[in-house]
Amino acid sequence: SLAAERVQQAQDFPILQQSVRGKRLVYLDNGATTQKPSVVIETERNFYLNDNANIHRGVHWLSQRATDIYEAGREQIRGFLNAARSEEIVFTRGTTEAINLVAYSWGRANLASGDEIILSGMEHHSNIVPWQLMAEQTGAVLKVVPINDRGELDMDAYRSLLGSKTRLVAIAHVSNALGTVNPVADIVAQAHAVGAKVLVDGAQAVAHQAVDVQALDCDFYVFSGHKLYGPTGTGALYARYELLRAMPPWQGGGDMIRTVSFERSTYADVPQRFEAGTPNIAGVAGLASAIAYVQALGMGRIAAHEQAVLAYGTQALLRVPGLRLIGTAAHKAAILSFVLDGIHPHDLGTILDTEGIAIRAGHHCAMPVMTRFGIPGTARASLALYNTESDIDALVAGIHKAQDMFGGKKRS
Ligand code: PMP
Repeated sequence: SLAAERVQQAQDFPILQQSVRGKRLVYLDNGATTQKPSVVIETERNFYLNDNANIHRGVHWLSQRATDIYEAGREQIRGFLNAARSEEIVFTRGTTEAINLVAYSWGRANLASGDEIILSGMEHHSNIVPWQLMAEQTGAVLKVVPINDRGELDMDAYRSLLGSKTRLVAIAHVSNALGTVNPVADIVAQAHAVGAKVLVDGAQAVAHQAVDVQALDCDFYVFSGHKLYGPTGTGALYARYELLRAMPPWQGGGDMIRTVSFERSTYADVPQRFEAGTPNIAGVAGLASAIAYVQALGMGRIAAHEQAVLAYGTQALLRVPGLRLIGTAAHKAAILSFVLDGIHPHDLGTILDTEGIAIRAGHHCAMPVMTRFGIPGTARASLALYNTESDIDALVAGIHKAQDMFGGKKRS
């Protein structure tokens, strides 16, 4: 049965089996980072137990095995994103580093004074600040697609911002602050019609729905392993092959060169050109096993389960007096962001913590979203495949307790 299956899935995550402050741990901070199934933890451990060596340089047995594991991880990600070839996958420390890679390599080579970069009003700081830095260096200009009261992109405004000066559109697939799922394929088609490239920040998308970069037709797609049940310090950039091949290096060092002399160095082919230094080899092994784990469950089934819990949670929160959901888009994923009359999100988070419930409170690295809604921050419950309706029930009970303590709104 589905219920039995969910119990099994929760058991795959040892950290969730503990009590916190004498209460069952209710982990609802998956947008910040997800917990890791045993198989991921075991894979990293086994790498260090049996396979550890540096990659690409060794002639010896262990080095070859480590290289094979690392390159198998690349192929696993290729399949996961349905990229056309594994050379299109560059390993990074995560989303932030992948966006910086594109900004410093592609951006520096392709942006000039007066060129326009379109972002949206719901971007995470990591998809704003690298472009600001690049704009300062190149004279490019940032344009921002506004969001409506439900937290959806204003697509008419987007259309009117696009033009012959647009070089890049950098957009979240799913908003970490609102849960909005953006119409990426449509955004890409319109950008390509004016000759602009599109970078998609998939940090909050890859764990919640199947992603197909060829169907989206995007030029760059980035994500973090740690939000996908994988290790911290892992992630990837997908970049269209011809684009990546034309991009200059951004970090110099070992592993990214072909030849080095004091007069001149030549660079390795892609993707090695963008992987200077010893990478997180064990982390890549762990990330590959995390992807295998979600693939075995099925992204479609994970999405269906999370959508059911999201719908249950939305209904439950809407019944709480004095609660306002921030982000009520027609198409949402995994995120319940809200404010309460008379209770600061941080105070709510602290009271929920005494009940063993982990949420996030604050601006969620998306300050412009908070400004747009005229609030200092929100309380955010973010879901993963192991969350259930009973986690929502615990959250709602915790909110009622906070309201009782603050002598706020009476329950209806
Ligand atoms: N973009 C979005 C939408 C995010 O939610 C996050 C993480 N909160 C990031 C980018 C940055 O990811 P990381 O810190 O793993 O680099």
